[in-house]
Amino acid sequence: MPHSAAMAQAKKSKFWPQPWWMRAIDKKKLVKKLRARDGDNCWRCGHAMRFDGLPNIGKYRTIEHLKPRSQQGGWALENLRLCHIGCNRHLGTHTPEHKEKMRINVGEG
Ligand SMILES: [Zn+2]
Repeated sequence: MPHSAAMAQAKKSKFWPQPWWMRAIDKKKLVKKLRARDGDNCWRCGHAMRFDGLPNIGKYRTIEHLKPRSQQGGWALENLRLCHIGCNRHLGTHTPEHKEKMRINVGEG
């Protein structure tokens, strides 16, 4: 089975990024887990996110790395938050502490 052999190879490879189709699957799983943990609202602004339709709209969800990947921030769930594309861009590469302060409290207390 050449297909699964290629998958095993890709999983073993430490120095080469996974092919896009594997990353796409992993991200979907991550989003599912993050939604189960945090709900459907943006981590930064607290408003509802879009999970379908075209990704190039501002209300679409994206995965925010609290600690940027450039600073050893990985793909562990505790480092990840769901937020709008626009909010993600706004948070940029600030420190996690700074990002916490950039959150907008809406409703619920
Ligand atoms: Zn937002």
